[in-house]
Amino acid sequence: MTHDKLAFIDAEMAALRDSNLLINIRTMESPADAWMVVDGRRVLNFCTNNYLGLANHPGLKEAARAAVESWGVGPAAVRSIAGTQSLHLELERRLAAFKNVEDALYVQSGFCANQAAIPPLVGKEDVVFSDRLNHASIIDGCRLSGAKIIVYEHCDPVDADAKIREHLPNYRRGLLVTDGVFSMDGDIAPLDRLMEVADRYGVLTMVDDAHGEGVLGRGGRGIVDHFGLHGLFDVEIGTLSKAFGVVGGVIAGKKAIMDYIRQRARPFLFSSATTPADTAACLAAVDLLEASDELVKKLWDNTAYFRDEMRRLGFDTGSSQTPIVPVMLGEVGLARQFSGALFDAGVFAMAIGFPTVPQGKARIRVMNTAAHNRDDLDTGLEAFAKVGRALALI
Ligand code: PMP
Repeated sequence: MTHDKLAFIDAEMAALRDSNLLINIRTMESPADAWMVVDGRRVLNFCTNNYLGLANHPGLKEAARAAVESWGVGPAAVRSIAGTQSLHLELERRLAAFKNVEDALYVQSGFCANQAAIPPLVGKEDVVFSDRLNHASIIDGCRLSGAKIIVYEHCDPVDADAKIREHLPNYRRGLLVTDGVFSMDGDIAPLDRLMEVADRYGVLTMVDDAHGEGVLGRGGRGIVDHFGLHGLFDVEIGTLSKAFGVVGGVIAGKKAIMDYIRQRARPFLFSSATTPADTAACLAAVDLLEASDELVKKLWDNTAYFRDEMRRLGFDTGSSQTPIVPVMLGEVGLARQFSGALFDAGVFAMAIGFPTVPQGKARIRVMNTAAHNRDDLDTGLEAFAKVGRALALI
């Protein structure tokens, strides 16, 4: 008897292809910046999360080079054995001061930070209240914890309240978790109202500020600063791979919580530490952000200009309140066609479809950055207008 063990893969791949969902992974052939060489072509880049343009910043590159000279290329151990270098601790102290929290833990990525922080806080006897549009890494962190997951409607504190009231009594404890800025829509969670709801029931609170770090709040201090909730949210998750331009994740909050997470977080305990070059480049990013809010201001100026002009052209930019500007198109085939035509016109902006966003809500996602200048934005707007007219969308 013959077994075709891999037949299911052919079937799955064919299904993805048939429903236009097969992901085409493009190759970057130059550093992340306003303009990049992508698949052999120089294009205007609206895809990377390089909000402040730090990914290719001379100061960060110099810090990384210096760290390689003095520390070598890798820590060669997990943090809890022999991988914690004084550089890691310095970065954690600086991040905690920047974000105005008692303590911070630097881990390998933002994705990892959610896997690290959620399972120590809740387990099988507990319940998580999670926004319908939360990021995959939050969802996976919750699944990994074994807690019951109750989804509340997107950015809806009234629904969160009703769900907590109904379900919390059946469990030992609860955690409310939300993205700060939603990565596909660019809207901001109503953190103050969610906080009030969670407080009413004594539920733990966690916000994933991956797209708010370096973007929202005074000088990019994040969503908790934006809402003035310092010391009130239990855990803040962040990433250093977006506005900070490097890589790594951060878990921040009260010292008691962080001490406990250091004892229990499996990605921290069982996976090697980030490299000296990464850590030193992150430190240089914190230096820059503390020294000036010029880049944050430029990011918001660019965002306002781009979004207003797109709306004036007649595009639907959804509920965006931040540098993430979706261009809502509906069907994934149309979004793919739009993105392909933009690329042909020299503009790189990705089509996003199911399962990253719900069925029928496909879009082009534009990431505004401080790396763009006004000419770049005008070039991008012209291309959007041309493609939009050619496809009879505006
Ligand atoms: N959380 C959110 C909300 C994100 O958008 C992302 C990145 N896509 C992550 C976590 C993961 O961050 P990282 O890329 O640093 O793993």
